[in-house]
Amino acid sequence: MPDNGSGQGFQLLLNDLQASSASRFLASMLHEVRTPIQTVISTAELLQDTKLDDEQTEYVHQIEFSANALLELANDVLDFTKIGSDNFKFENIPFDVVELTERTVDLISIEAFNKGLEIITDTDPKIPKMIMGDPTRVQQVILNLVKNAVKFTSKGFVVVRISYHESYLLFEIIDSGIGVDVQKQKLIFNEFYQVDASTTRKFGGSGLGLAISKKLIEAMHGKIGIYSDGKMGSNFWFSLPMKKAEFGETSGEFTFTDEERVLVVDNSKLMRSSLLRKLASLGVRQITLASSGKEALSILQNAALKKKPFCLVLIDLFMPGIDGWHLAFEIKNNDLLRNLSLYLMVPEGQIGKEARMKLLNWFSGYIYKPVKHSELSSLLHKAFNKEKSVSETGNSVRQAAQSGSENIAKGKLILVAEDHPVNCRIICTFLERFGAKVLVAKNGEEAVEQIRNNPQTDLVFMDILMPVKSGIDATVEIRRMNFTGIIIACTANNEPEDFKTYKELGINDILLKPFKREDIKHVLEKWKTILSYPEAKEIITLTEVSNNASDCWNINDLLDTVDSNVELAESLMDDYIDQTQSILDKLKEECETGKNIDAIELYTHTLKGSSAAVSAFKLAQTGKLLNDAAKTADIVKVKALYTDFALDFQHLKTVVKNWKATL
Ligand code: ADP
Repeated sequence: MPDNGSGQGFQLLLNDLQASSASRFLASMLHEVRTPIQTVISTAELLQDTKLDDEQTEYVHQIEFSANALLELANDVLDFTKIGSDNFKFENIPFDVVELTERTVDLISIEAFNKGLEIITDTDPKIPKMIMGDPTRVQQVILNLVKNAVKFTSKGFVVVRISYHESYLLFEIIDSGIGVDVQKQKLIFNEFYQVDASTTRKFGGSGLGLAISKKLIEAMHGKIGIYSDGKMGSNFWFSLPMKKAEFGETSGEFTFTDEERVLVVDNSKLMRSSLLRKLASLGVRQITLASSGKEALSILQNAALKKKPFCLVLIDLFMPGIDGWHLAFEIKNNDLLRNLSLYLMVPEGQIGKEARMKLLNWFSGYIYKPVKHSELSSLLHKAFNKEKSVSETGNSVRQAAQSGSENIAKGKLILVAEDHPVNCRIICTFLERFGAKVLVAKNGEEAVEQIRNNPQTDLVFMDILMPVKSGIDATVEIRRMNFTGIIIACTANNEPEDFKTYKELGINDILLKPFKREDIKHVLEKWKTILSYPEAKEIITLTEVSNNASDCWNINDLLDTVDSNVELAESLMDDYIDQTQSILDKLKEECETGKNIDAIELYTHTLKGSSAAVSAFKLAQTGKLLNDAAKTADIVKVKALYTDFALDFQHLKTVVKNWKATL
């Protein structure tokens, strides 16, 4: 019998809750629970950067570990209850799936190397540069599976492979760990099922990871499963339908000649074949593989004697027999070989000061394992002094990707609009550490002013509840100024309905409060690629708006009315927008005094009629409700409906603007 611990009771509770409105209660409760946990985590992160002795550092680590475990559990349960509900929406934005996968694997690679595992990414060169989908959710699934692979493997390897098929991408996470018994393979995708509870005590885990992954993948129209014979490791796989983005094409990177020979020296066969594929995809034509230092020396010497020398050697640091340092020493002390350009392949984070000195003597540089496509590309660029045959935009993305994970916001101008001084400090501190130049605004009005003075701002973190002017009003105003940067709403509000409205008003993404450094980093990474492609920004705005366009305005109906006279339709909409804006201003004033009910009735009557006339049916409907409320002198109701109308009206303006841009 599997040991489910207290999970079983919790599962029953969860089943009940899912079926009832109490799931909303659970979601709110968990949301509240996250707030104090988050404060603990953020403070511990800041504390770690102060002067602490060893004992204090250890205590801070313990606080962090437990707080993170609690947060993970709360997030998992929250996710689990949400996925599949009507309000759970997937994004459909362009992203670089190879870069996303490599970045995700990076999050766990240090842990894997510390366990002595080889972790390898192996990606099919045919995968398009940019695909459409929900990068956050894809990343969540990859991370779940890679974390498990590392957790349940004590020696050997973890390979993350993506292969391209006509209509879908296949992701495989293969490990050499304990495997999963054939009988239990179906059960592990059930919530709270764990084959062995003792690993959970040691490494944490809620038993929800695979259940969440399954729900997510199926909701994205993919499939998920496992191959394992129960002894020799596992192969978890999932497939996703592939939708190629309509830009971001890269042509074949560099052009190499047959004289430009590259030798790869690594004892791991998986690593050798993954590097072979990566180098070939970057255009290298002559690639030779060696499985040991000894073999490498003999290959290099033979080639030199035959006057067909190598130009570049990629050397793994850790190899049995002759290791990377030793091999470099032999090469540099050999008259035939000493001019070779050597690069060391070293696990992320494992190159100390001393090693760097040593490195300078023998190597031209180093590259972190698992080797990323972008970093290998930049290594070749440096080693062979090559110019890329890629487009400008492609280049800038690569350069951004090369800047190292802690410098992810280097060169970006970011505005933080946040009235709470502690929150503001936390977010600014993190952003500065990520290399961004940061502007600050204490309220919505200051935010608008900052954008007016700095329209080149790349990204805005916009608090929603702010004095003087709310984040929503500031966003609407900023978008009206034709600001094309990314706006991220920072809010503790977890209502998907509100997210929809925010997005319609020009907000690109939500950063749920309370957040930690990783969340900010995640947001930056997600939007970094898009910031480099101006075409992508337009796609995002247009797709999001057009999804709901017909709800708010039926353009075909209006064109029918005006006998397909587009110019007339355009000028009618301009008039309608001006008139409605002015009525809304006057109505707001009247509502504040509440004295002139006749004027309120008249204004609401006009809103109802004119909206219907231009086929803005949703507004016409709210206008009718407003007018009904005015007729019964129900000012409280008028005020509530006024807000609804004003939000929908802002949305309509964006839709009309986008429509005009297509004419
Ligand atoms: P958790 O990892 O939090 O326990 P999951 O839902 O992710 O929960 O996994 C459920 C169970 O499936 C794990 O407890 C483990 O028994 C099994 N499992 C998942 N991945 C692997 C793997 N790569 N190798 C062996 N067992 C695994």
